[in-house]
Amino acid sequence: MHTWKRFTQEPRIAYFSMEIGLSAEIPTYSGGLGVLAGDTIKSAADLKLPLVAVTLVSRHGYFRQSLDESGRQHESPVIWDPGAVMELLPAKTLVTIEDRDVKVQAWLYRVKSPTGGVVPVLFLDTDIPGNVESDRHITDDLYGGDLTYRLKQEIVLGIGGARILDALGFSIKKYHMNEGHAAFLTLELLDRSRHPLESTWDERAAWDTHRVIEQCVFTTHTPVAAGHDRFPYDLARRVLGEPVPMGLLKELAGADELNMTMLALNLSSYVNGVAKKHGQISQNLFPGFEIHAITNGIHAFTWASPFFVNLFNKYIPSWAHEPELLVRVDNIPDEEIWDAHCGAKAFLFQYIEETTGRRLDPELLTIGFARRSATYKRGDMIFTDLERLVRIAGGKLQLVFGGKAHPQDEPGKRMIEHIIQDGEQLRGKIEVVYLPNYNMEVASQLIPGVDLWLNTPIRPLEASGTSGMKAALNGVPNFSVLDGWWIEGHIEGVTGWSIGPAATETSVTENHGAEDVADLYTKLEKVILPLYYENRPGWIRVMKNAIGKNAYYFNTHVMMRRYVTEAYIR
Ligand SMILES: *Cc1c(COP(=O)(O)O)cnc(C)c1O
Repeated sequence: MHTWKRFTQEPRIAYFSMEIGLSAEIPTYSGGLGVLAGDTIKSAADLKLPLVAVTLVSRHGYFRQSLDESGRQHESPVIWDPGAVMELLPAKTLVTIEDRDVKVQAWLYRVKSPTGGVVPVLFLDTDIPGNVESDRHITDDLYGGDLTYRLKQEIVLGIGGARILDALGFSIKKYHMNEGHAAFLTLELLDRSRHPLESTWDERAAWDTHRVIEQCVFTTHTPVAAGHDRFPYDLARRVLGEPVPMGLLKELAGADELNMTMLALNLSSYVNGVAKKHGQISQNLFPGFEIHAITNGIHAFTWASPFFVNLFNKYIPSWAHEPELLVRVDNIPDEEIWDAHCGAKAFLFQYIEETTGRRLDPELLTIGFARRSATYKRGDMIFTDLERLVRIAGGKLQLVFGGKAHPQDEPGKRMIEHIIQDGEQLRGKIEVVYLPNYNMEVASQLIPGVDLWLNTPIRPLEASGTSGMKAALNGVPNFSVLDGWWIEGHIEGVTGWSIGPAATETSVTENHGAEDVADLYTKLEKVILPLYYENRPGWIRVMKNAIGKNAYYFNTHVMMRRYVTEAYIR
């Protein structure tokens, strides 16, 4: 018996995600969504949950980012070899694309936990001899290409994924769609649910939607309607064909366009947003559906820097398997918290010197900001008024940035240029470093190594955000707009600080730009800088609260227990 066959011995939850970020060596992720998926899988392995994950092999990764003098982003593919870290499984399956058969195979990667738990992850691949040349590239570029390319990828992910699980002998009790990209799996399940006696093509009753609904769970991640994948029906008809009758498809996926979110909503028995606020926003966006909320988390062991791993091991044994125990952080002496932080800071500063040649001063308050460079994240907000910033900083502030813009996102690229050019202007007054090629490896050094983690999204577009949780775990307090998870984690002056007014309940276009900027500067000047420099014990108290009141709760162990009890077992 092949060793992978043991994974098929018990029924499993199938977790589908277009991107999964397990480590920097497997570059099949672009940002928060993928890292969340990876952390979810790791916690499932720790908790010995019967899960199997399905994603695309993305042979060209997302991309490697380099930045030139003027701050312009350049992209190159990250060609990687799945064969070096994964096992090719013997089964293949077929999907129909543009009336052609396309062969799909899967690479198996095992996520192993020290607890003995193992979660298999299947990386779908169409680069198989016998497929026509263009089809061999469907699983190359994550979020690359045009709408047609994306549609083909989603057919491979949803339909190909469901079929290969079947071909391999998996028995699946729930299908969890992490975002709408995988929603075509519902069409495969619909096909399987087809009533054999009523097989007339347009007999609506032949398709047992209830049977599919019972099997599906859907997590939405995007609080704006425009952020959801939609395909014109003429394109869908040409590329996807008619796996179910067009009339039924339009009933389920929208009358005018094939909307992947609608398809997932209509065919899931449990739907959730990724923070309480995001659940409410989604509820307003999709009236008529019941939308729950399960707040995202991070995998604590992955995201604790080695300095904090050692410290937690010493004072809070078993913390990695039970991050709730971090609630007892006050058992750790202040000096040791500070020493661990200084270790992480020195480690980051050495990395910065090696990669950029810039030398930062470890004595100075250092603010970090790194995430995908999307304009709604407003990464350049702190540079709104350079003179005022210089005055406030008084030579006692440094900034470290990071983040890639999507290759087709010109405004996102311009934001990076702004940050780098403003940084040049500030030289000698405020040192600003932009670390290139932000990925999981860079994140794991950058986030723990700064003193304060900044986030300035336009409310309510940060569905959850997870980098702030990584910061909190390493004793780095958040200084953030009240959006996403921070609405739940923020206690003013205790766990960190807010920027701007509280979020109102429902609007999706709120923008308190001027108020946010004013509050950012005022709080930095009057509260944060004085606390850091004049009251170190007070600062360390906030660091400890970030661990004991944020990190103990905002982790994927807590999150997965909620998915199990609220979504999977129903
Ligand atoms: C955690 C993480 C993110 C998510 O950051 P947000 O601030 O939540 O958007 C994105 N990219 C990488 C590489 C990460 O590790």
